[in-house]
Amino acid sequence: MENWLKKRIALSPTKLAVVTPETKLTFRELGDLVSKQMGLLAKLVKKGTHVGVLTNNNLTGYSLILALQQLGCVIVLLNKRLAAPELQYQLADAEVELLIYEDDLALVDLTGLEMVSFSELANQTSEACQGLAEFKPDEVTTIMYTSGTSGRPKGVCQTYNNHLYSALGSALNLGLTTEDNWLCVAPLFHISGLSIMMRSLIYGMTVTLLPKFDADEVMRYLVAADITAISVVPTMLKQLLALGQSSLNPAFRFFLLGGGPIDKPSLEKCQAQGWPVIQSYGMTETASQVVALSFNDAANHLGSAGKPHFFIQLKFASDGEIMLKGPNISPGYYHQALKNQRTFVDGWFKTGDIGSLDQDGYLYVKGRKGDMIISGGENIFPREIEDCYLKLAAVAEIVVAAKEDAKWGQVPVAFIKLKEDISREKLVTYGRKFLAHYKVPKEFYLVTDYPRTASGKIQRYKLLAQLAKLQKIV
Ligand code: ATP
Ligand code: MG
Repeated sequence: MENWLKKRIALSPTKLAVVTPETKLTFRELGDLVSKQMGLLAKLVKKGTHVGVLTNNNLTGYSLILALQQLGCVIVLLNKRLAAPELQYQLADAEVELLIYEDDLALVDLTGLEMVSFSELANQTSEACQGLAEFKPDEVTTIMYTSGTSGRPKGVCQTYNNHLYSALGSALNLGLTTEDNWLCVAPLFHISGLSIMMRSLIYGMTVTLLPKFDADEVMRYLVAADITAISVVPTMLKQLLALGQSSLNPAFRFFLLGGGPIDKPSLEKCQAQGWPVIQSYGMTETASQVVALSFNDAANHLGSAGKPHFFIQLKFASDGEIMLKGPNISPGYYHQALKNQRTFVDGWFKTGDIGSLDQDGYLYVKGRKGDMIISGGENIFPREIEDCYLKLAAVAEIVVAAKEDAKWGQVPVAFIKLKEDISREKLVTYGRKFLAHYKVPKEFYLVTDYPRTASGKIQRYKLLAQLAKLQKIV
């Protein structure tokens, strides 16, 4: 198929492509910047080179990713929050040959690898070179690691077709306007950020790129700039809600909410103040959202992730595991034959999430298979218990997880951030009013924070590993 960047420059050269706090570039200007980067890269890489990229959200990183794509490299997007050993694992796992890193993200402990900083790259002698004549639909353009919520992140291969169909499926659901301007505060190393870049080329859409999520700053953009869309994870939406500012600029179309579950009270608050929140479900392996809930449906299906997008087929395994099939689903994890055999079965991808459809075809994601608590033969999903306890005034945040138990196999235990003191007895009495006995946590641990991934998802396995050190609520 056609080279997206070249095509986009030919179609809309004067349209704004990227806006950052410092600068604004049209697609032609972005193309020029990308060509410059390609010239600097020419001696360092060739088609098919695995290149690791470690960058903040900024124009240099943005144009570098596009330049590597133009040169046909396999771009390995690395999470800048990783510690050296975690990074070292991913670099080896993805067989990265060259690491290009932003100067302030330098890690001294990395070994056995060719490394070039952004400033060293800028000083390379430039060589004229051409971008790919064509993109091959099934070729891998990016390897992206999953968030690591349930364990060690997995390297997901993403093809041009994966990104293309993700963008098309999303547009068929959310619509497109010529004025679209998507605020990108999601990291470019996660699919939520990268997919905005890919959509920009395919749709001809402006991306406003901010270095990080700062609630006040983002709210200023949503109110005063001509932003029409923003991708948020639940923690971001909650921080924006907490600012108490409800009216946004008139062109604003939606918050695309994804990445993990959100509590119902927050959704109700958004509804009450008329914020257009599109809940969605998707993952790194599906190159962004594959199921989404439109506003019109939101009131009657609050808490649902919506209906599967065009191109996406959905079915359930006998235990309720969500299985997906479609052109935006990854061909597999890089060099993980065994895992791929177990996860990609007869063209269906086993998501590891449990869910169900209601009679109207709306998907409810109950939680991860690995987070399900099996207590005395009963299946318990942490979310139901968490949602219940969040209504209690003393509870600021709560996470429920499975603790091994000699009698029941597993029992639910809770990790609570409190707003005010409360006794274990009161917590148990409250739970018993609304939940079956076996769902009421057996122990309540006091925490001040939770171990989280870069996108704010709580890592239950790390929390459970700390259990012995935590103070119990008595
Ligand atoms: P890892 O695979 O390394 O454990 P991860 O699954 O969190 O990390 P991502 O690909 O970033 O990595 O996240 C996708 C997962 O996020 C989904 O499989 C699902 O568990 C969760 N998720 C996404 N959207 C929703 C949603 N609307 N409701 C509930 N869970 C969701
Ligand atoms: Mg996952």
